Amino acid sequence: MRLVIASQNLHKVREFKTMLKEFEHFDIYSLRDFPDYTPLPEEGESFEEIAKTKAIHAAKELDSLVIADDSGLVVPALDGAPGIFSARYAGENATDGENRIKLLSEMKNLKEHQRVAYFECAIAVANPDGLMKCVKGYLEGTIMHEERGANGFGYDPLFVKYDYNKTLAELEERVKNRISHRSKALDKLLHFLQQLEVDAVSH
Ligand code: IMP
Repeated sequence: MRLVIASQNLHKVREFKTMLKEFEHFDIYSLRDFPDYTPLPEEGESFEEIAKTKAIHAAKELDSLVIADDSGLVVPALDGAPGIFSARYAGENATDGENRIKLLSEMKNLKEHQRVAYFECAIAVANPDGLMKCVKGYLEGTIMHEERGANGFGYDPLFVKYDYNKTLAELEERVKNRISHRSKALDKLLHFLQQLEVDAVSH
């Protein structure tokens, strides 16, 4: 059975593929395999709404089972920013580096206890008939004053999980994959995906 990960982001696609490798009966693709597919502009006011819209649209257009995620960093002391605008915090075509510089600048007058933050990830599953399921996962931590580490992407070089002393960009990929908000959300989906796989194999 074909399962399409509705993302072009190489880091995310790799993270999902690694986490889904136990599913032998799913042939896993990503939007990188469908260059003619045009995703909708992001719509919605929460990670959950955006993930659902992405999954429903891609499932219909690609006539496939699809999982779509939407994720980002939330800083409560910045009224939830960058939030759903995480990928374009410093502007429409901003790089990850520019987004991190903007974040440090917005946070420079905050007190230490106001540097707490969390990543949120919503993952939606849809088939051509519509939405099947949506789950959420979180990773809580603190924003550093300067970047450390070269792995990962996005805000990883600035984010330290609350009981760790390394930024996400200093962790090995397999460690980050185990603790990430995406993996926490995906954990909640595993049983559902197992059932889908069982149904597909028995038909
Ligand atoms: P999305 O592709 O619309 O879900 O946007 C995700 C954005 O949130 C990314 O471009 C990053 O800026 C940020 N983000 C989401 N997950 C992570 C992560 O695991 N590490 C660092 N940044 C992340």
